[in-house]
Amino acid sequence: MDTIEATLTHHGVRPTAVRILIYKALMQFHDTFSMNDVEIATDTIDKSTIFRTLTLFADHHLLHEIEDGSGSKKYCLCHNDHECSVEELHCHFYCETCKKTFCLDRSHIPPVSTPKGFMARHAEYIIKGTCPACSAKNHA
Ligand SMILES: [Zn+2]
Ligand SMILES: [Zn+2]
Ligand SMILES: [Zn+2]
Repeated sequence: MDTIEATLTHHGVRPTAVRILIYKALMQFHDTFSMNDVEIATDTIDKSTIFRTLTLFADHHLLHEIEDGSGSKKYCLCHNDHECSVEELHCHFYCETCKKTFCLDRSHIPPVSTPKGFMARHAEYIIKGTCPACSAKNHA
């Protein structure tokens, strides 16, 4: 069984108590989360520590960062043990009704060829629309 310590160490992050605590909180999220969600989930940890930890985690590819156009940055846990190549990244779905961003884990970003000389490092693919819960409400 993989411990949080092992996961952090594997990604080159020293597993301090507060980082383990934050990572544990992140594991409760099934889809993307914002800095604000993490603040609520961790309760006693101050904002700047959370911000620094999320940035560190993202730098070490424990997290994916998503710009969904909502104005606040979203993150999701990376389940790969190495830095995802562009082909391994998954798409996200932004619900315009409840403003949640969902991970489409099984939908990889479709391959886009770049002209000679352009080296892709990262890609984001956001689909916008209505999530199942909001669609159900609309039809009730
Ligand atoms: Zn990844
Ligand atoms: Zn929704
Ligand atoms: Zn995701």
